[in-house]
This record gives sequence, C-alpha cells and structure tokens, in this order.
Amino acid sequence: MKMDLIRKLPDPMETKEMYPVTEEISAVVERRTAELKAIFTGENDRMVLIIGPCSADDENSVLDYIARLVSVQEQVKDRVFIVPRVYTNKPRTTGEGYKGLVHQPDPTGRPDLFRGIIATRELHMRVLRETGFVCADEMLYPENYAYLDDLLGYVAVGARSVEDQQHRLTASALDCPVGMKNPTSGDLTVMMNSILAAQHSHAFIFRGWEGRSAGNPCAHAILRGYINRQGVTHPNYHYETLLHLSDLYAKWALQNPAVVIDCNHANSGKNPFEQPRILKEVLHSCRCSGAVRKLVRGFMVESYLEDGSQPVDGGVYGKSITDACLGWEKTERLIYEMAEQIPG
Ligand code: PEP
Ligand code: MN
Repeated sequence: MKMDLIRKLPDPMETKEMYPVTEEISAVVERRTAELKAIFTGENDRMVLIIGPCSADDENSVLDYIARLVSVQEQVKDRVFIVPRVYTNKPRTTGEGYKGLVHQPDPTGRPDLFRGIIATRELHMRVLRETGFVCADEMLYPENYAYLDDLLGYVAVGARSVEDQQHRLTASALDCPVGMKNPTSGDLTVMMNSILAAQHSHAFIFRGWEGRSAGNPCAHAILRGYINRQGVTHPNYHYETLLHLSDLYAKWALQNPAVVIDCNHANSGKNPFEQPRILKEVLHSCRCSGAVRKLVRGFMVESYLEDGSQPVDGGVYGKSITDACLGWEKTERLIYEMAEQIPG
C-alpha cells in the first residue's frame, strides 16, 4: 500500500485502562441508557430530544452548552428526555474539510488521531461527570466504536453509511438505541433493510475477532430529508410520510417501530431556523393520528450557543464550524414549547 504508517495506536482496551470510567460514570450511563431504551420499546411515553452542535469541535463551548441543558432538562423531565449530541466524527462527502475531534482535536491544526481518540473519550467522560447526561455520537467508523462503547447512550448511523454492511452488523451489537438514517437519496427501503439487519444477530469479523452479535431490538429509523436525482432537497417529515413509514414497519414485521425526526439537514434545507417549525409541525401530526404519535419517539435538532455557522477558523465561541445551528435562546424556547405540545 502507498501509505505511511505514522504510529501504532493504543487499542480500545489499553485506552480504557489509561482513561477508565469511574463507578459514578458507569452508573449514569446505565441509568440514562435504560431510560432511553424504555422510550424506544414503548414502555415509557416521553419523547427523546437529541440536541447539540453539528460537531463537538471545542471541549469548553460544548460543555458550556450542555451545562445549560441541565436545568432545562429538570423542568421538562416528565415529557422530554434530553440526549446531548456530542458528535466527534464528521462524514465528508468528498473527504475534504473538518472531520471531527477524532481527526483534529484542534480544528485549525493538523490531523492527530492519537490525541483525537483520547480527546473524544475525555470529552464524553467530562460530560457524563459534570452534567449527568449520557450522549449521542455518530458511528462513522464501526471499528472505532469500541473506544466509546462504555460511554454512549445513543448512536446514529449516518445517511452516507447506512447502506454499508459493516455499519449494519456492528449496529446489531450495540447495547443502546441506534438510529439508522434514511440515505441521502431518500430510499426508505435502504433504511428498512438496515433496521432489519441491525435488529438481528450476525457472525462477523470485528477488530480481529470472530464474533456474534446479539441483535439490537432498539434499532430504529431517523428521517433526515433527501436530495433527488436533480440535486433538489426534499423534506420527509410530513404526515403522509409518517403514516407510510408506520405501514412499512407493519409490513416488515420489525420490533419496536419507532422514528426520530432529524429537523435539520435535508429536512430544513440546512436552514437551522426552520427546525422549531418542523418539530412543532410533527407534534401536530402526532395529535392528528394515534399511529403517528405511537411511531414518533423523538427529534434531533442541531443547536449551539450561537445562531448559524462560521468557517473553521472563524473564532466565534460556541458557533458551529460545520452545519448551521439554532442558537441558545431559540433552543431553550423550543424545548419548553416541545414539552407543552407533546400529546399525552
Ligand atoms: C449529522 O447528523 O450532522 C449528519 C452528518 O447527518 P447525515 O448523516 O444525516 O448527513
Ligand atoms: Mn450536521
């Protein structure tokens, strides 16, 4: 191969020995993940809100942001279960651009994957210790999941990864809810196939081992909008799509039918200020149909301290360097409105 092998990285077990979880952190992960699973199995009728910046680019501003969620969570805890987005791996369509904390612990610096793996683990541990939230991350590289498997409460498989076999098989081994996004083309069959695969047990090679997964009964759909063959963006959060998805779940005979609506990306046409309207529109759809209310288990919202986005070297504290986000004031208002409008 034409590739410089820069250095051998510590494996997940060595990394966990260097940066071990405390009993206190493990207890938070266990308790919050169990509550989250209960929402996806339908034992609990609260809704999930996976919320936070498009990318967790800076430890301090991410922690500032999540610390603000703590008191809001307390106010809405009977209706809304908050899972902060701490997304440390960013998919890039052409491979160019900021690829997340795991690649570049300093977004303006050179890639440093050794420091990146450690920074990612440390950030998730700090959030757990200082805020009591278990977080969500994207599983961009399945083989890297083992660095974080004792820390995450929710995992997403992205629109560009959902058709890939290694992602599907690894999702079947996760002991937390995993959301399979619709692909960028919008083909719902691809998403249903991925949920089917993730809900079943498989034998496969994982990090040099022959393994057998347990199957993940909490694997579910995430609708994120799509781009058609002419390159035009289309939403897929509307009432008709949700009823159609409910029918698809019945036909496919999957366990725990559930969907999370991603309010940004192709659903908002990447206009983050549309997110409150989209979320409330879906809650209205839930009020119109028992089947829709049963299917919709929550939302994903891209939000940060500041409105909008900036270039990677923009330097504004708490402003996204990837997808544009909803700022804090609008976010706080949205969470209270969500709690009021969830049908019982
Ligand atoms: C994201 O959640 O920031 C993301 C990249 O999503 P998607 O895979 O839907 O594009
Ligand atoms: Mn994004």
